[in-house]
Amino acid sequence: MSTTPETITGPDRRADLLERLTRVRMRIGNATRAAGRDAEPELIVVTKFFPASDVALLASMGVRQVGENRDQEAVAKAAETVAQGIELEWNFIGQLQSNKAKSVVRYAATVQSVDRAALVTALDNAMEREIGRRAEAGLPERAPLNVLIQLDLREDPSEPEEGTGFGRGGADPAGMLDLAALVASARHLRLRGLMAVAPLGTDPAPAFARLMELSARLRARHPEAGVVSAGMSQDLEAAVAAGATHLRIGSDVLGPRPGLL
Ligand SMILES: *Cc1c(COP(=O)(O)O)cnc(C)c1O
Repeated sequence: MSTTPETITGPDRRADLLERLTRVRMRIGNATRAAGRDAEPELIVVTKFFPASDVALLASMGVRQVGENRDQEAVAKAAETVAQGIELEWNFIGQLQSNKAKSVVRYAATVQSVDRAALVTALDNAMEREIGRRAEAGLPERAPLNVLIQLDLREDPSEPEEGTGFGRGGADPAGMLDLAALVASARHLRLRGLMAVAPLGTDPAPAFARLMELSARLRARHPEAGVVSAGMSQDLEAAVAAGATHLRIGSDVLGPRPGLL
């Protein structure tokens, strides 16, 4: 990783993280009250580009769910924190090549970025092998893999996708129910709901409203798939107002990502 030591160590890092995390938790609380909702959405802290030492500090502050978007980086951090006895739920939130499925099912509780049929098959096959591997090694059983279908909320899919340093991606909403049926019929996958990133440079509210409509349509067929993962640092208030159940917050907790400074 290219993270400079100044951004990751020093006695002030704990205080810095705690201050940012507290501010984000307050924003979530305020947004929840403003929306008249009873329960706060779950916070997933996106730790990509930041070291395992930050993940450990966040865990000590009560963070239970983290998100990562690159397999190689996530593998290393999950191994480091597991070695320290830290229990966390790992969410894979990035574009995923089918040949990485085998690796991801070793540490991820949830893959939020399922956007095509081939990936559903690859993840289910990888789970089959992982279950066998664990049994042979005498390791604890692997729970079914939670899956969110990532949807592309752009009105015009020819608009550029890149722009913030990560691919936005997602499946065409027209194919949502077919993809959902495939996940639901897989042996080792559990369909939990939807994930989306608001399109760049526009008001996120209409996009999140559309996501909630799609979620209602999904739940009519799959009542167990009520998760709506939406909302990042810049648009968490809009996501809470729309009804998101999970928020994925990176830079407002960790600080600016090293590559984007
Ligand atoms: C990086 C990332 C986030 C977090 O974004 P921030 O703007 O840093 O809060 C959320 N979702 C996905 C899919 C990401 O890749």
